[in-house]
Amino acid sequence: MLEVVMTVAVIGAGVAGLTAARELHRRGIDVLVLEAADRVGGRTMSETTALGSTVDLGGQWIGHDHRRLIGLADELGLNRYPMHTAPVPTLIDGSRRLSAVSPAVLLAVAILGGVEVLSRVVAPRRWNDTTVESWLRRVPGRTTRRLLEVLAGVSWTADLDRHSIYAMARMIRQQGGLRTMLSTRGGAQDSLLVEGMAGLTAGLAAELGARIHLGHRVTGISRDGDGVTVQTTAGDFTATKAIVTVPAPMAGSIVHHPPLPPEHARLAEHTYMGSVYKAIAVYDRPFWRQGAGGELIVLDGPGAGVFDTSPPDGPGHLCVLIGGPAARELDGLSAADRQRTVLEPLAGRLGPEVLRPVGWHEKSWHTDEYVGGGYTVLPIAGTVGGLLPLPAAPVGNVHWAGTETAGDHPGYIEGAIESGLRVAQEVAAALAG
Ligand SMILES: Cc1cc2nc3c(=O)[nH]c(=O)nc-3n(C[C@H](O)[C@H](O)[C@H](O)COP(=O)(O)OP(=O)(O)OC[C@H]3O[C@@H](n4cnc5c(N)ncnc54)[C@H](O)[C@@H]3O)c2cc1C
Repeated sequence: MLEVVMTVAVIGAGVAGLTAARELHRRGIDVLVLEAADRVGGRTMSETTALGSTVDLGGQWIGHDHRRLIGLADELGLNRYPMHTAPVPTLIDGSRRLSAVSPAVLLAVAILGGVEVLSRVVAPRRWNDTTVESWLRRVPGRTTRRLLEVLAGVSWTADLDRHSIYAMARMIRQQGGLRTMLSTRGGAQDSLLVEGMAGLTAGLAAELGARIHLGHRVTGISRDGDGVTVQTTAGDFTATKAIVTVPAPMAGSIVHHPPLPPEHARLAEHTYMGSVYKAIAVYDRPFWRQGAGGELIVLDGPGAGVFDTSPPDGPGHLCVLIGGPAARELDGLSAADRQRTVLEPLAGRLGPEVLRPVGWHEKSWHTDEYVGGGYTVLPIAGTVGGLLPLPAAPVGNVHWAGTETAGDHPGYIEGAIESGLRVAQEVAAALAG
């Protein structure tokens, strides 16, 4: 089989891999990107609607403090627009709207306040064995419990019977606190790109051109004192260094020779990818802005977070996120039934017009063959190896990146960029030394 020789093989063409490869290429280092899928972008992916606008099926929001992402978007000449948002989202439970000062909602807010405090102190490790589900069972009141369950599902996409209180508190702290995490304007969901995240990944990929090899799934990495041999489904590649950016649960299928040390080898066993379904319904105009607004938390049906992601002066985009087991339950439905299941709970609040979108874009990330889910890698309750950030110390000539290895904003696109820049610096320094 053909064996290609280069200096650095980057595995994965998500934001982390593309960032690392572009940075190395800019430093004059010979680099090749090996990507399993037939597209770049990984957990980001955009589509063009029938009305000519762009929607994001994966990562889309730019947080108010995601300075690397903002800088990169500006450098690439992309257009950012702020979220159109209400001060407080509308809560819907069946046909009724829940008042923000109802006892059930006030109790949920008080509990979240407690969790916030918990996240600021160092939460005891023994809470790593207590699952969010068992904790929720002790919360009084069906509505409060359901509200917390939906918020947790949409925020972390975790299976709550596998997600520990310790991991939850840690993630809240890493994500800048609950207020930042849950807020749109001024928080983690502050702005979007008119061009979608594909604008960003296409901009990164443009500089790399033919150095990106799609349809090359890496199956093995052999390392010795001189470098690495990377086995793929389309041939072998020899390099001085390899950078692995594949999310840990998926990277478990790459066979390493000699085997990796325990802190890396156990990662795939201690982690899983969150389950998440995302849909964007497209309308001629954001008609909801005249009424209730398009930011909702829906407790009935599968339970969803709904956001008005319409571009300025463009058509109406209603973005729906469903996380955890509820996302997987949609997989068995036909596309038409899934659309009905997702949109029907909104009709009581937004009117029957919501049931007739002119376009419908959806993706179940947990069924994606190569990234396996999202938003991020999650640690299994009771284990410690999978807590973020994941280990990133090089193993011989194999280096590690990907959003989950980031010290700043792990799990976000910002973290993917941080990790890509960090690993490029690390590899360039090692090659120079
Ligand atoms: C629905 C959804 C919504 C999200 N929303 C946001 C948001 O609004 N804001 C935000 O900041 N973040 C968001 N995220 C998270 C964000 O998208 C990710 O943090 C980021 O894209 C991760 O980039 P990465 O390069 O680290 O990993 P990935 O994008 O997962 O890249 C890894 C790449 O490796 C490839 N690969 C896998 N196995 C192999 C193999 N064996 N050989 C070769 N290649 C392989 C994959 O195909 C993929 O392209 C969201 C994610 C999802 C799924």
